[in-house]
Amino acid sequence: MEKTKTIAGFIAVSCLVVACGGGGSDSGSSNGGSNSTPPPSAGINSPTDAQVISLVQSTNIDFGPGANGRPAGTWRWSDTPSRHIPVYIPTPAAGDTTAQDYAAKVNTSVALINTKLAGLLVLDATNTLPTSGKFIQVSYGTSWVPPGSTDYAGYCANVATGPSTGSMIVPDIQNGIYSNPVFINLGNGRCNVTQEIVAHEFGHALGLANHFNGFGTNDTSSTAFWDVLATLYSNPQSTLAANLVVKRAPK
Ligand SMILES: [Zn+2]
Repeated sequence: MEKTKTIAGFIAVSCLVVACGGGGSDSGSSNGGSNSTPPPSAGINSPTDAQVISLVQSTNIDFGPGANGRPAGTWRWSDTPSRHIPVYIPTPAAGDTTAQDYAAKVNTSVALINTKLAGLLVLDATNTLPTSGKFIQVSYGTSWVPPGSTDYAGYCANVATGPSTGSMIVPDIQNGIYSNPVFINLGNGRCNVTQEIVAHEFGHALGLANHFNGFGTNDTSSTAFWDVLATLYSNPQSTLAANLVVKRAPK
């Protein structure tokens, strides 16, 4: 995808992957943007160490070089796991079964991520709006659909700097997360927000900008998805690809 970069804003331009739908808008959207064509050699189920490193590079390190003056290397949520990452899940209105369903799926994803990335990061679900620090905010029905598009399924969810926008989250000058809060927009009223889509969006919110083979469809069963996240969070931010030590998530 193309990245339209202005220091604080990367706009998603296209959605190439169905999951993106989840990710959708992600399609680029999420953080990064782009959904790049999956590297043909990258295996989903049994990536080699070299492949995991290559995927961390393509999905994270290569995103937004120099954005906000950021140094080279990886970018991600800072000070994990000691600093937990709050996930603000607004309490759905009574009778809003759609939002209730989305909130339940978010809680399921939070539990799954905390299990798979145990010791590396902790997501703290809360229904109280945090008053300080960086956090993730879940938003119902606000997935960004590009003007003129009717591909509601393809843009079923996205990660962005706010509701109903394709403006992607970006790193800060120390390769932490600049944007706050980081919005996970779920649903647009015309698509089916699946459990897989919700998990996919968390991948974007945690710093996976570009899609890859293993991040875009059925992510939670993808070894590459979990190993890339584990490796991103087991190495300090600003780690160069050449210095990454691969960390495997438990199967
Ligand atoms: Zn996506």
